[in-house]
Amino acid sequence: MKKGCSQIRALLSAYLDEAAGTEETRMVKEHLQSCASCREELSQLHRLCRILLSMEKPQVARGLWESIKKRL
Ligand SMILES: [Zn+2]
Repeated sequence: MKKGCSQIRALLSAYLDEAAGTEETRMVKEHLQSCASCREELSQLHRLCRILLSMEKPQVARGLWESIKKRL
């Protein structure tokens, strides 16, 4: 792990949520350009995020389907 990685990793989830400040975002972007292992970490976080989102959706779809069925 490169110097500064732990600092960047602490910022990754905020960066992913676009909740990081301008300075932090710039720092993360600069670091990602030169650090493959943090890029990998970010893509794993991204994947996890998508899994969580896709887990929420079936419930929404089911609720929607229930309300459609009632109207039929
Ligand atoms: Zn790094």
